[in-house]
Amino acid sequence: TAFGFRQVREGEKQHLVNDVFHRVADRYDLMNDLMSAGLHRAWKSAMVDWLSPPKRPGYKALDVAGGTGDIAFRIVEASNRNAHVTVLDINGSMLSVGRDRAVKRGIDQHLTFVEANAEELPFPDNTFDAYTIAFGIRNVPRIQVALNEAFRVLKPGGRFLCLEFSEVTVPMLDRFYDAWSFHAIPRIGKMVAGDAESYQYLVESIRKFPNQENFAEMIRKAGFSRVTWRDYTGGIAAAHSGWKI
Ligand code: SAM
Repeated sequence: TAFGFRQVREGEKQHLVNDVFHRVADRYDLMNDLMSAGLHRAWKSAMVDWLSPPKRPGYKALDVAGGTGDIAFRIVEASNRNAHVTVLDINGSMLSVGRDRAVKRGIDQHLTFVEANAEELPFPDNTFDAYTIAFGIRNVPRIQVALNEAFRVLKPGGRFLCLEFSEVTVPMLDRFYDAWSFHAIPRIGKMVAGDAESYQYLVESIRKFPNQENFAEMIRKAGFSRVTWRDYTGGIAAAHSGWKI
């Protein structure tokens, strides 16, 4: 491969991903801003706008791979602090940064933090009104298993929304984006986290992730209906939506 990384096996992959996020948890938000040049904020806001949670109590959302809480906080605020959001992540270090941020914002009573695996959600069937996952599913070893779990825990009528890096559909942009991801991102990773290799792995995982149409097909395969997507910044990221009917 481009970075001399051997094929990463499924079991190994989760370890690699866990190491990366344990190491960078306290610098994660800064890294995101630097690596996406601040764009991740706009993409996350656009996804939560698309979700448009109701501004009344009783709405329950699950934010998987929720990390330091960016999506969950936006859902709570978009609902006028009515929604309750469960933030689930496999990594306790990321969650504890999220919990501290929530307390600082005074919204921790609207959140529950759960350390668990997206492939094995510790909730009964038909529990949530919405399932969100942002820049997380790419890191899960068995993506289809995670999608099936999403379908299972949603109530009938529930909404699935996934934000992820995708295929750039604008001709000149893809060249710039390649240069950015292969050169800038590992350098920023080295500067801020002292570690370029992990970030090379993350860049590679973006390359391997299915494009918009193929990912939509996986979401349909999990059982979702009316699957659509929106490209952000020329397809650098895309949000996919589906409904459990
Ligand atoms: N959603 C947050 C955001 O957009 O800022 C965090 C995204 S971060 C790039 C990816 C997160 O996925 C990490 O916090 C990592 O611990 C989590 N993760 C990786 N594998 C996971 C799994 N199998 N189950 C749940 N979370 C996982």
